[in-house]
Amino acid sequence: MSRARLYLFDTTLRDGAQTNGVDFTLADKIAIARMLDELGVDYVEAGYPGANPTDTSFFAERRPARAKITAFGMTRRPGRSASNDPGLAAVLDAQADAICFVAKSWDYHVRVALEKTEAENLASIRDSVRAAKAKGREVLLDCEHFFDGYKANPAYALACAKAAFDEGARWVVLCDTNGGTLPHEVEKIVGEVCQHIPGDHIGIHAHNDTEQAVANSFAAVRAGARQIQGTLNGLGERCGNANLVSIIPTLKLKAEYAQQFEIGVSDAALGHIARIAHGLDDILNRATDRHAPYVGESAFATKAGIHASAIIKDPATYEHVAPERVGNKRKLLVSDQSGRSNLLAELDRIGFAVDKDDPRLSRLLDEVKEREAIGFAYEAADASFELLARRLLGKVPRYFDVEKFDVTVEQRISAKGERVTVSMAVAKVKVGDEVLISAAEGNGPVNALDLALRKDLGKYQSYITGLELTDYRVRILNGGSEAVTRVLIESKDETGDHWTTVGVSSNIIDASFQALMDSIVYKLIKSGAPA
Ligand SMILES: [Zn+2]
Repeated sequence: MSRARLYLFDTTLRDGAQTNGVDFTLADKIAIARMLDELGVDYVEAGYPGANPTDTSFFAERRPARAKITAFGMTRRPGRSASNDPGLAAVLDAQADAICFVAKSWDYHVRVALEKTEAENLASIRDSVRAAKAKGREVLLDCEHFFDGYKANPAYALACAKAAFDEGARWVVLCDTNGGTLPHEVEKIVGEVCQHIPGDHIGIHAHNDTEQAVANSFAAVRAGARQIQGTLNGLGERCGNANLVSIIPTLKLKAEYAQQFEIGVSDAALGHIARIAHGLDDILNRATDRHAPYVGESAFATKAGIHASAIIKDPATYEHVAPERVGNKRKLLVSDQSGRSNLLAELDRIGFAVDKDDPRLSRLLDEVKEREAIGFAYEAADASFELLARRLLGKVPRYFDVEKFDVTVEQRISAKGERVTVSMAVAKVKVGDEVLISAAEGNGPVNALDLALRKDLGKYQSYITGLELTDYRVRILNGGSEAVTRVLIESKDETGDHWTTVGVSSNIIDASFQALMDSIVYKLIKSGAPA
């Protein structure tokens, strides 16, 4: 049986850009469009030409891509002809392969928000589709509030969809704009629409307000829809859009969908989806979601010893898919609950062949347990664990010594009369016979210390230039006067690798210092710096 083609439409750059705190530059947009094209989505909706300078410049030139670069815009305004609407003209003139119009399909919105008649709205849909077709563009219509509209007035919602389809729109996209529709409702309504418009012309655009945007997308596909709209990492306003990073692996790895449907994402591209998902976080300067399905750092992590020993025998015992398929990796957490099997497997992963009866193994396990008892969290800090293991097995060179450091925080009134807080750090570092003293100012004491430590490491400086701190998390443990501080620092380097280090102390600067040092030493080892 031949499989049906299912199309993927990404709107990270348009709907995703509506997210609070997200402001893509032109360079960001170009980089994200490239990642999406590499992944193999069919459509990249890149923005709203004419609405803002970034989107307008994106469409100023034709961006070569496998995917169809899609411009988004409104249907013609009421009371204007299609040829006399500057907003529509900007969309029609954009260098795009396809145009996705948005139009109301809920009679209540047509009357109250648009203040036009139902007939005028239908005419505006028809005219806009016709104008875009005449420009040689593939046309899509996003039917805004389709599900709410259909519940209130099915005949009118359907008439809007039909108007676009009859005029030659390639796709009519049913939007759950408020995100409140439930999967069984989506399945029922899409099934009814498919009796009037063929399913291979129907798309679904789901929002995540009940955390069912992914489920709603699959419900629509089961009912006949053949295009899914979504975003990378579920980016989008409020609670986000349907997450393509969850949808794509499910379509490719779950037999029910994989046997029935074909998508433009190859097996090889699927193997890069974790990197692509994290690449978006990098552009947004956000920490990655550790618990994201398929691609999160914890998605294939196992803690308890009994599960871990089963996983080592046969991974399928506790994994629903193989992590390599999505570019992720299996992780056996080393923590105070873990047994020898976790530890051995983790050592094996980082490249230490240790015999299971090696006495150093018991020492390492004891050390991990002791340190976790005072607040260290090795399951969250892979790089600090690796250093601890290397130290116990005698394999960490002494690259440098921090002889002393000094951090000051000063609050004063600036020349402009504003109250400002300035942090400064001085570090005295010994590299071989060389003593190096560096000072740096930072936006906080930890930042200043980090800058001072990494400013001059003498002969090792070239090995750490690509090192960057991407996240810093502080947690106070125990509470009260006994409180200790745990600091987790996430770092990355020029190769795109991420790692996490941990420090624990009653003093936050000291805890941060430990985590910073681990990160630097880890990077030196990773870069092959000579001892
Ligand atoms: Zn939307």
